[in-house]
Amino acid sequence: MHIRDYFDKAQSQGFAIGAFNAANLETIKAIVEAAHEMRSPVIIESSPGETEYIQADNLVCLVNNFRQKYGLPIFINLDHSPTVSACQAAIQAGYDLIHVDTGKIDDWQEKINTTKQVVQSAHSKGLLVEGEIDHITGSSTLHHEAVEQEQQQGNYTDVEQAAEFIWATQVDTFAAFVGNCHGMYATPPTLDVDRLKQIRQKTDVFLSLHGGSGIPADQIQAAIKQGGVVKINVNTEMRLAYRQKLEQVLQSNQELAVYKYMPDVIQAVKQVVIEKIKLFGSQGKADG
Ligand code: 13P
Repeated sequence: MHIRDYFDKAQSQGFAIGAFNAANLETIKAIVEAAHEMRSPVIIESSPGETEYIQADNLVCLVNNFRQKYGLPIFINLDHSPTVSACQAAIQAGYDLIHVDTGKIDDWQEKINTTKQVVQSAHSKGLLVEGEIDHITGSSTLHHEAVEQEQQQGNYTDVEQAAEFIWATQVDTFAAFVGNCHGMYATPPTLDVDRLKQIRQKTDVFLSLHGGSGIPADQIQAAIKQGGVVKINVNTEMRLAYRQKLEQVLQSNQELAVYKYMPDVIQAVKQVVIEKIKLFGSQGKADG
C-alpha cells in the first residue's frame, strides 16, 4: 500500500502515524523493532542535519532492507527541507514523502513557487509533499523556559492563508503552527486544536503535527480525534532516551564492542517509540 492509503486509513479510523527522526543505524533499528512488535505503520524521517550526517542514500538502503525483512509499511520522509535542491536530492534517493519548509521565507509568492516546484517533481514520481508556511518554533532538545515563551515567537497559522496556500500548491499534507513548538519545555503546551479542525474542514488536506515530544496525552488525542491529524513527528524524546541510556551504559562498564553495548540504547529508544505508537493509536494498523 502507498503512504496515501495509510493516511486515508488513519483519517477514516481516527489514528495517527508516527514520524520518527533517525540519523544512525541504532535509531533506525529501534523504530523498526517497535513497528514490528506493534504491527504499526511508521515513518522514518531525517531533518537537514540528520540527512547530512547519515546521507540520504544510506538511509534509503537501510530502511529498504528492513522493509523487506519485516514486510512492514515503513515510509521515509524528508523533514523540514528549506531548499528545492535538497528536496530533489531526496526524491532521487527514494524518499516517499517530502516536507518542503517555507516557514522562513518571507515573501508569499516565493513560498508558493518554491513549494510548487517540489510538488511538480514529487508528484511526477507518485510521492507526497508536505507544506509549511509558518515557522514551527523551537528545536529538538531540552529547553529550560516555559513553552508559552517559545509559542509567542511563532505565528499561529491563519486558516484562510493555509487554505489559499494548499489550493495554490496542491500539497498533500500540511504542517500548521498551533502552539506545537519543537522540543521539550519547563511547562507542557496547550494546542489550538480548533485551528487544526478548521484547516482540515476548509481544505481536506492531510494534517501533520510537529513537535510531538512533551505534548500531554490528552492534547495528542484531541489533535487526532478533533483536529484530524494523521502524522505526528517525534524527535526530542528519542534523543533524550538515547543519550541518557548511552551515558549510563558507558559509565557502568568498560565494554569496547559497539554491538555489545548498543542493544540497551536501542531498547531505550524503542520503548519511547512503542509508547508513541500506542498513544497515536496505530498499533495493529500495519496490515491491509
Ligand atoms: P520534537 O523534537 O518536539 O519531538 O519534534 C520533532 C519534529 O517535529 C520533527 O519535525
